[in-house]
Amino acid sequence: MPRAGDLLSDLAHAPVTDAMVETKCPVCSQSQRLNRARLSSADPMRMTYVCVRGCSPILIVGLAIDLTWPPDRGVRVGAYSLRNPEDLIVHLEGEATVVIPANRNAWTALDHGED
Ligand SMILES: [Zn+2]
Repeated sequence: MPRAGDLLSDLAHAPVTDAMVETKCPVCSQSQRLNRARLSSADPMRMTYVCVRGCSPILIVGLAIDLTWPPDRGVRVGAYSLRNPEDLIVHLEGEATVVIPANRNAWTALDHGED
């Protein structure tokens, strides 16, 4: 499974690493860079980034097929998907940022124990 930074490089048309991506935990609201998050790949079809405080997933990298239902579950990048319950803020070189808006249903699906 690719890292989120690899997929965001495609979306941003610039080199991105996990350390350049900021998001917020949907539970404790702690802002954090993805390189600080704990990575869980217990499911070989998904890579889950978990809040630095351990309270909740903050992002799931999975397969595009994960986006079939419900709508607004995530963003498709080629064969993969990014499911982010909060905005992803990509800090590019210099002052530029790219924002991937939160997906309204990313968290709903997580909350129902599907993952
Ligand atoms: Zn948290």
